[in-house]
Amino acid sequence: MKDELQLIAFSSQNEKLKAFAAFLKEENAKYNLTAITGEEEIISKHFYDSLVGERFLESGATVCDIGSGAGFPLIPLAVLRQDCSFTGVDSTQKKVNFINAACAKLDIKNCYAVHARAEDIKPRESFTAVTARAVASLNTLAEYCLPILRVGGVMIAYKGSGADEELEEAKGALKILGGQAEEIYRYTLPTGEARAIIAIKKISPTPAKYPRQGNKPRLKPLK
Ligand code: SAM
Repeated sequence: MKDELQLIAFSSQNEKLKAFAAFLKEENAKYNLTAITGEEEIISKHFYDSLVGERFLESGATVCDIGSGAGFPLIPLAVLRQDCSFTGVDSTQKKVNFINAACAKLDIKNCYAVHARAEDIKPRESFTAVTARAVASLNTLAEYCLPILRVGGVMIAYKGSGADEELEEAKGALKILGGQAEEIYRYTLPTGEARAIIAIKKISPTPAKYPRQGNKPRLKPLK
């Protein structure tokens, strides 16, 4: 596990991440992938923020990143943690294409992305870690992430300053889905913003009727 200064150095100095930032800017000019485009902001709000979650990845983890978008936290984590394998999932085809093009261009071998909705991912109870950033509120996110997580695995939810309230609202959902809150890890980005990661341990199998179809996890989150 790397400390904050090591992660800041990695965010700004790693050659693959430098090349990824250049590719992101190049492709972003053609079609909209991210609103964050300044050099310092990419390093802080995309790279450093993504990398903080590595503290929750055990050696050799099989990781699924839900709603990867332009590859966050997926790609920085895959570059840092070459002992782990990463699958990115997004419901937007152009973002999946971008991630796979970036992995091919940068020779990132432990990562690929698939075009799918989180609710449709198979097999269930299979990954040892599931990550997600800026995808949905925690109660919705739990219904996306916990069904595909193996008992004993960890859900790593990247959040902002409202993490406590989100966790409070998601307590019922976590109980139904087999999750248990382990830790809220709070940190500050190099650009000054407060962030938090909510780590949730999977303690029992998720009942087969979850996730619900028809966008219900988002429209009618579990209470
Ligand atoms: N995780 C990235 C980040 O932090 O920069 C992207 C965040 S973006 C705001 C949310 C992404 O989640 C979008 O790319 C969207 O297509 C994807 N998404 C939302 N709901 C989803 C679902 N049910 N299944 C798969 N992807 C989903």
